[in-house]
Amino acid sequence: MAGEPQADCLFCKIVNGEVPATVVRETETTVAFRDINPKAPTHVLVIPKVHYPDAASLAAAEPGVAADVLREAGQVAADEKVDGEGYRVVFNTGAGAGQTVFHAHAHVLGGRGLQWPPG
Ligand code: 5GP
Ligand code: ZN
Repeated sequence: MAGEPQADCLFCKIVNGEVPATVVRETETTVAFRDINPKAPTHVLVIPKVHYPDAASLAAAEPGVAADVLREAGQVAADEKVDGEGYRVVFNTGAGAGQTVFHAHAHVLGGRGLQWPPG
């Protein structure tokens, strides 16, 4: 069923503790943890605890949780002190856009200059 944990999903395993992660924030609905292969000095992933394959399907089904993810992204940026200089929140959606883990997640990137467009 939509939103239910998926046995073969890496980020569901991080939510349930089966796979360890460096967690920086947790709420009733979200977990934020450091990316294992950081692309910037601050690179934190914010995920919903519920499983949806991408951000749009999460927002369509559970808009309140999608809003929680966005709010937590802002909190991470503030905690990491990158909010003043500017930071980026990215939802890669689809393999063609670089999505490799099909459990909705926001990348929070900061701590260095960020090019636009990103390429
Ligand atoms: P995507 O490419 O799907 O937008 O982002 C997936 C992200 O998950 C990548 O930036 C990748 O480095 C990160 N990642 C993959 N496996 C793990 C893991 O086991 N632990 C953590 N913390 N991050 C991971
Ligand atoms: Zn999942």
